[in-house]
Amino acid sequence: MKNYDVAIVGAGFAGLYALHKLRSLGFSVHVFETGDGVGGTWYWNRYPGARCDVNSLEYSYQFSAALQQEWSWSEKYAPQPEILDYANHVADRFELRKDIQFNTRVIALLFDAKQGTWLGETEDGNKFSAQFCVMATGCLSKENVPSFDGLEDFAGTVLHTGKWPHSHVNLQGKNVGIIGTGSSAIQAIPLLAEQATALTVFQRTASFSIPAHNAAMDKEHERFIKDNYPQFRARNSQRYAALDNHPSQVSALELEVAARTAIYEARWEDGGLPFLASFNDLGSNLEANQTAVDFVNAKIREIVKDPAIAERLCPKTVLGCKRLCVDTDYYQTFNRDNVTLVDVSAAPIEKITAQGLRTHQKDYSFDTLILATGFDAMTGALLAIDIQGRNGVTLKEKWQDGPTNFLGLTVNGFPNLFTIAGPGSPSVLANMIVAIEQHVDWVAELLTHLAANRQRTVEASATAEREWVELVNEIASHTLFPTGCNSWYIGANIPGKPRIFMPFLGYPAYVDKCNAITAAGYPGFELS
Ligand code: FAD
Ligand code: NAP
Repeated sequence: MKNYDVAIVGAGFAGLYALHKLRSLGFSVHVFETGDGVGGTWYWNRYPGARCDVNSLEYSYQFSAALQQEWSWSEKYAPQPEILDYANHVADRFELRKDIQFNTRVIALLFDAKQGTWLGETEDGNKFSAQFCVMATGCLSKENVPSFDGLEDFAGTVLHTGKWPHSHVNLQGKNVGIIGTGSSAIQAIPLLAEQATALTVFQRTASFSIPAHNAAMDKEHERFIKDNYPQFRARNSQRYAALDNHPSQVSALELEVAARTAIYEARWEDGGLPFLASFNDLGSNLEANQTAVDFVNAKIREIVKDPAIAERLCPKTVLGCKRLCVDTDYYQTFNRDNVTLVDVSAAPIEKITAQGLRTHQKDYSFDTLILATGFDAMTGALLAIDIQGRNGVTLKEKWQDGPTNFLGLTVNGFPNLFTIAGPGSPSVLANMIVAIEQHVDWVAELLTHLAANRQRTVEASATAEREWVELVNEIASHTLFPTGCNSWYIGANIPGKPRIFMPFLGYPAYVDKCNAITAAGYPGFELS
């Protein structure tokens, strides 16, 4: 049986950086990856239009100044193939592949308390052991396929945006149905509509989307950022979501309508996620938030020509409570003759039929069905592995009422196991590459500390864990996130999943807490 200091599960941006960092500190490290290549999200999500919605100059690693300087992004928001190229470039440049085992799914991890090690098993029946496990399994990697009646009877092709085929999908001349109108669908729909003969969009909840205003990379801007990368990164890391989002210090309610609208107008013109930072209280004050809702809905009514369709596209929820979407011509697409929008909130999908689908009102037919139905987010990929900690307790049992942990990284009863970008950390509410690097660096420092002090195990205490969960909930309770909508942040997209707001809100405050714990010699952890 192979033995490693560190086993890493997943070869997305988290697994790649964890491998590089821990290996460079002298640990023996091995990565297991289900796919046959690196890149995680960008390996799996190959649907038309897939791209980042965090500026490319930010959605990239900062651990290597040379890498930052040598890589060039072609667009403001890089398309999926280019981000995948970047992941491959990183794997080659830092010689990572030799320690990655592809086509290998980890199915079980068992903590051997006597030895203080983890025993792992892969789907092909092989076993390994490792002192530490770094779970880099991804927050948005376990796709959600709703249990529609009759799905297996569909005579045509079924595709999921999160597991898109690697070969070209030709939709020319096809009659396509797509279920879902979240970020993935919103990126795909304009391009699907161009290719397909007819596109029917099944929408359960309308989403807010801000135009990306994507463009070729402004070379002068790129030069400026490259000349000032450390300062640019340092400034962004002090911001709420670790983004260059120009946060406003002003309440939306402080201004007269005209002044407020002018600010929204400017943010709409700039495009993208910084729209959420137009005012300082959009995430916490319902009345303030309503001003943003009204602004975006007015835009939708302006763009979409048919008033009835426009009304269907206007979200009725809190803006930003579900993840804000970023698009190129999404609302405009509903002006096309070959696109139909079907509201499946009033008349839910009853079943998938051989020819299409049936709602409570009507039958629809198509030959290709695209599920843009998202992911079992944040906990799905972790709980898909049979993880058994101390005394035979499984993570599934421990988290049956929702995830509990300390710092979003470590779980009481599960020593030496780290969840990168786990629930309870800023994770999906931050620029994720920044959040990933911060987590990996923190773990690396802890493992170095253990080695220097001849200690073998580290475990979050039950008290630290309880207090952390209380803190995560307490912070969220001052915002509109937990109650403002049915988001995947609270597990509401998966039937039966416990409803708990999972991420830690506030990137810089979180980092300060992690750093303080390191500086104080790891209070809240038992080192032995
Ligand atoms: P992933 O990239 O999800 O990688 C996890 C890897 O673990 C996968 O390759 C998976 O195959 C592997 N794995 C899982 N379980 C096992 C197992 N049991 N055994 C072996 N291997 C396993 N974030 C942003 O900050 N900005 C963006 O613009 C942005 N855009 C996104 C667009 C899309 C379409 C999606 C789905 C997500 C986006 N995200 C974005 C979030 C994105 O997931 C993260 O930015 C980041 O790529 C996550 O990296 P990761 O390594 O943590 O996880
Ligand atoms: P998502 O946001 O969860 O959207 C899933 C969509 O499917 C929703 O519209 C949902 O409706 C619908 N749906 C799910 N089950 C359904 C059912 N049984 N019947 C009808 N409709 C159903 O998933 P996603 O679009 O894949 O995005 C997930 C996350 O990945 C994003 O929030 C974002 O963090 C990331 N992402 C980012 C980008 C980017 O721009 N860079 C692109 C894609 C994804 P309800 O809302 O009613 O549940």
